Formats: sequence, structure tokens, C-alpha cells
Amino acid sequence: MKGSLIVVSAPSGAGKTSLTHAAIDRLAAIGHAVTFSVSYTTREPRPGEEDGQDYHFVSMERFEAMIGEEAFLEHAQVFDRRYGTGRKRTLEALADGQDVVLDIDWQGAQQVRAAYPDAVLIYVLPPSVQVLRDRLAGRGQDSAAVIARRMEAAAAEMSHWHEYDYVIVNDDFETAVDDLIALLRAARLRQCQAADGPVGVLANTLAKKPALP
Ligand code: 5GP
Repeated sequence: MKGSLIVVSAPSGAGKTSLTHAAIDRLAAIGHAVTFSVSYTTREPRPGEEDGQDYHFVSMERFEAMIGEEAFLEHAQVFDRRYGTGRKRTLEALADGQDVVLDIDWQGAQQVRAAYPDAVLIYVLPPSVQVLRDRLAGRGQDSAAVIARRMEAAAAEMSHWHEYDYVIVNDDFETAVDDLIALLRAARLRQCQAADGPVGVLANTLAKKPALP
């Protein structure tokens, strides 16, 4: 792998999607090659979501056929919906030197960790239970029971935060974006990644001519 595989997980309501897109846009603007992985899902598109941009929306039959074809790098079931990361495109982007950001849940993160030990796992937390509740309550159109169910799902997802390498608390948005950018920059400077670039060329040159008079 030449690029870094970056996993970002969070409960719904932590602001993960805006955060990852803001960090990717700013990194791209300074020439840091990074791409967002568009997952496959069997769920219905929400208003405003576009096929191929937010998700690849596929039928259950197609999703299961893709599992059979080993087309997924990881896949998981969240409630009665299936989600998966395409293997081919991800590996091609990494081989091309791009970092790939996966916005996936804890089940997917565990699979990525097992298959790609060099992957960087980042968890995004909301600043407090109250802020999370406010965000999940949305515009006040949902019943208390619906909000309580969302809180329960968020708590179950968050119980895995300690399985990750880094934790970002999304309190001040700009600070959280800076933190995420810092982690992607640091991932690129790791020895295992740097060896493929100019550092490797330098090291090879020195190895051939070690003795200076
Ligand atoms: P939503 O349906 O709200 O877009 O996403 C629900 C959950 O599924 C989120 O936690 C999201 O990170 C996760 N998810 C989205 N795509 C994938 C994927 O490809 N693999 C896994 N394991 N989880 C995913």
C-alpha cells in the first residue's frame, strides 16, 4: 500500500460526514492526495442523496452476489441494512498513492484492522450527551420514543471508541477539522508510508554509497 487506509467511525449525530468532507477538501487543496470511499448499501436513498456520490445504492440480491464475488474489503449489517466498502477501487486508489477515508461503523473497522494492520482508526465523539441528544432530536419533529431509540443506537456504537487509535471530540468544528487533518498528515509521514517516496530513494542511494571520506 502506498496510501494510508483511514477509518473514521462515529455515532450518528457526531458530525462525522461534514468533518471528513471538510478535511478531505482542505487536504486536496494543499496537494495531499486523498479520496473518500463511497460505500455500497441496500438502504433506500434519503432525500438529497445521490447514487454514486453518497452511496452506491444496490438491491439485497446484488449485495449478496458481491459478497460471493469477494468484492468487499469489509461489509456489515446495521439493523436490517447492509453496508460494504468496494475492494477493487479502494486498493487501486491506495496503490496509486492516495489516502482513502472510509466512513464505516465499528464492525467494519474491526475487519479493516484485522486485514490491514497499518490502517489508521479514528473515532469521532460528540462533546457531551446533551449535545448528542440535541443533535439527534433534530428539528423537534420526532417523538420521545424515536429519539430514545437513536440515543440507544448511538450509545451502542460509541461503546467501541476505545478500539480505535485516535479519538477526536467534535466540539468546535474548526478544531476538529484541524485534528483530522493532523492525523492524515501524520499517517503520511509514517516510516512505512514514507519509504515509497523520496525518503526511500534517498535511503537507497545512501545504502549504495555509505562511506564518505
Ligand atoms: P447511514 O445509513 O446513516 O448513512 O449509515 C449508517 C451507519 O453505517 C453509519 O455508522 C456508517 O458509518 C455506516 N456505514 C456506511 N457505509 C459503511 C460501509 O461500507 N461499511 C460499514 N461497515 N459501515 C458503513
